[in-house]
Amino acid sequence: MIVILKKDPDKAQLEAFEQWLLDKDLQIHKSTGSSETIWGLIGDTTRVDEELIAALDIVSSVRRIQEPYKKANRKFHPEDTVVKVGNAQIGGGSLAMIAGPCSVESEEQIMTVAKAVKEAGATMLRGGAFKPRTSPYSFQGLHEEGIRLLKQAGDSVGLPIVSEIMDVTQLDACADVDMLQIGARNMQNFELLKELGKCNKPILLKRGLSATYQELLMSAEYIMAEGNPNVVLCERGIRTYETYTRNTLDLSITPALRSKTHLPIIIDPSHAAGRVDMVPDLSYAAVASGADGLILEVHNNPQRALSDAAQQLTPEGFQKVCKKCFAIKEIVKDN
Ligand code: PEP
Ligand code: MN
Repeated sequence: MIVILKKDPDKAQLEAFEQWLLDKDLQIHKSTGSSETIWGLIGDTTRVDEELIAALDIVSSVRRIQEPYKKANRKFHPEDTVVKVGNAQIGGGSLAMIAGPCSVESEEQIMTVAKAVKEAGATMLRGGAFKPRTSPYSFQGLHEEGIRLLKQAGDSVGLPIVSEIMDVTQLDACADVDMLQIGARNMQNFELLKELGKCNKPILLKRGLSATYQELLMSAEYIMAEGNPNVVLCERGIRTYETYTRNTLDLSITPALRSKTHLPIIIDPSHAAGRVDMVPDLSYAAVASGADGLILEVHNNPQRALSDAAQQLTPEGFQKVCKKCFAIKEIVKDN
């Protein structure tokens, strides 16, 4: 249920109303925008008399929210959320360009890529250290050492870092990571979501391989319900019957999510396509669809990459993509 308050409500009445709601075991999610103040009520609102609230002097209107996601719902928070990650931001009209290798492989590799992507215009550095691989015999990442190298590279070029966490036991090892990624395979790992909801780091939540947009929002809700509002949603392609690409990039999700949630939306064309020849065009389309940013895999020697070799851009390729993406964002940004 959302309650829209009148402008400059009487303070005593407002406090009494708040206490009355708290006594009913309801949580109040307050959102003060430039034009109106909205209180989102979370909990069992079936026992709350809508008409009674609507009749209060301080209340402008009351509405029940049908959707199961509340804190992630745009009706609770009409203005776009901007997530700050170190010196970067995601949302609010800018274009976040997150770039880096699939996996951190060596000091030389991550330093080379970090310098190149920074020069090309990247706003954040990515690199996997704990890798979710389909085969147990594939490279699993450098773990703690990978995080250390990623942090060193990020610091040396002045970019905040993002890396995937697969399990709560990796939280200490990821203490220096500016933004934690929850990968597609873990989108519904509810215990992990709850734990990351208790930390104050921004979370990059990737859409599950066969998750609906509503399931993605419910996973965001798990994080937000625990108190962490800094969630960025990421479309990375979903499983369909098509086999030409690794996954099918669902770009209709950008406007769909935009209308349903206030959270920033970024797109991952690398894991969607699984093939580098398609990454530039899908990146342009993603920006044109209204995304707040992209996450792209970039490797200094893609053919020799220890993971996802077929989909990684070279630094030169990234530079071209980056330039065009910023130009496209300028054209579409006021839509
Ligand atoms: C990744 O970003 O390297 C990754 C494994 O992504 P996803 O979870 O989307 O497959
Ligand atoms: Mn990858």
